Amino acid sequence: MIEEDYKRVWAECLEVIKDTLGPENRKAYDTWFIPIVPLQLDGSTLIVQVPSPFFYEYLEDHYLNLLKRVIRLQLGPNGMLKYSIVMDQTIPSEPIVTTVPSSNQRSVQNPVTDLPVNINKENARVIPNPFVIPGIQKTRIPSQLSPNATLENFVEGDCNRLARSAGYAVAEKPGITSFNPLFLHSHVGLGKTHLANAIGLKTKELHPDKTVLYVTSEQFMQQYAEAGRAGNTNDFIHFYEMVDVLIIDDIQFWVGRGQRTQEAFFHIFNRLHQHNCQIIITSDKAPGELQGLEPRLISRLKWGLNADLQAPDVETRKAILRQKLTNDGIEMGDDIIEYIAYNINTNVRELEGALISLIAQSSLNHRQITLDLTKQMIDKYVQSSSREITIDYIQKVVCDTLDLPVEAIQQTSRKREIVQARQLAMYFAKKITKSSLAVIGMQCGNKDHATVLHACKTIENLRQTDRFIRGLVDDLEKKFAE
Ligand code: ADP
Ligand code: MG
Repeated sequence: MIEEDYKRVWAECLEVIKDTLGPENRKAYDTWFIPIVPLQLDGSTLIVQVPSPFFYEYLEDHYLNLLKRVIRLQLGPNGMLKYSIVMDQTIPSEPIVTTVPSSNQRSVQNPVTDLPVNINKENARVIPNPFVIPGIQKTRIPSQLSPNATLENFVEGDCNRLARSAGYAVAEKPGITSFNPLFLHSHVGLGKTHLANAIGLKTKELHPDKTVLYVTSEQFMQQYAEAGRAGNTNDFIHFYEMVDVLIIDDIQFWVGRGQRTQEAFFHIFNRLHQHNCQIIITSDKAPGELQGLEPRLISRLKWGLNADLQAPDVETRKAILRQKLTNDGIEMGDDIIEYIAYNINTNVRELEGALISLIAQSSLNHRQITLDLTKQMIDKYVQSSSREITIDYIQKVVCDTLDLPVEAIQQTSRKREIVQARQLAMYFAKKITKSSLAVIGMQCGNKDHATVLHACKTIENLRQTDRFIRGLVDDLEKKFAE
């Protein structure tokens, strides 16, 4: 090997690098590439010297793909780059050479968390080749997860059981279950972001070595556009390919736009899926309804598990309220919690919003939270959003008025007062809600539609003939009209 070969090889590399970066990145080229000194060519391995560990890390962070490409171009598919770092003056400046081969294996789990420390130690100055160590960057990727939205405080109910337990399974064995991708969808405010975040946190807790990354689809799109402008699209894609668990929130944002973003994501998706990395996606629509998204992407989204989150029933709403209160260290009577839970039934975000407004009101006005204050507040709150009277709510009001526990309606009891309460609930459910007779029957003690029809007729008749029932019906009517 001629001594000057390494200089020639590096000079050619520089040509390509300079060309690739273009005149607009001239400063970057001067700053990061000119100071690199070629030292030696060892077979297809070029050894270069860089001025500092930071310099090396910067190259690694920003120009990994470019360097890889250039080296392979010059030295063939087995081409490798090794670094020698000029250390602190007090340390003898013998070159430090990496020993790790350059194949780009994702599976290499490199325990490099303590790398910067090692570099400064005299006896541990061997640093691995950047082409092999996604680990270096891996440890540096902040997950962007919120510490507050955990699986523990994601209240379980019929409405979310499948999604929640699938989420847990994914966190236990990311990428290995058949829930890949895990696709979570629901209307707004029903817990998609919370659950996706929670799965990320749990994964990190159970697998501290895994890189988890949460991004909104909007962020992803912006980053992609910026990378395109800066000529770093490859770095962008490479960055995402290093993640073990990728969470993309609100993918519906791409519908009808961001075709190039979708393409990039498609490649990242394939790559991650191939390497058993977990993908979690949320959306306000099921995959099949995401028209305007690339068809081949939609087909990928259907590969794994598609789990939806429904609006919580009243028991779950109560549990959510109780949990929020416990978290905040606030005590509140059951009657108040019930009132809120029965009246706010659109989604969890509104439920929380109502609770927060109530707490704020009471502390601003130095008033205790009483049922009256709650009623005033919630009624105002509900008026401004959409108020929908549900069968649950009707049952609750009827039972409260008759001084019965609300469960009475669900029981099979034939006691007169319970039968009557059930009939009243059915009557008002038919009158006020849009639910079918079958649904009303099902929710009022699991009866069939004929029973509901019979109940409605009975109450109509009694209303004409029975003063007590007439008074009761009028009274209830007023309550529902409030
Ligand atoms: P989405 O992403 O579906 O619009 P979010 O995840 O933002 O909904 O949820 C809205 C709010 O409701 C968040 O503050 C979240 O913590 C809360 N939330 C939703 N579902 C639950 C649940 N099952 N248990 C506790 N909090 C919940
Ligand atoms: Mg969300």
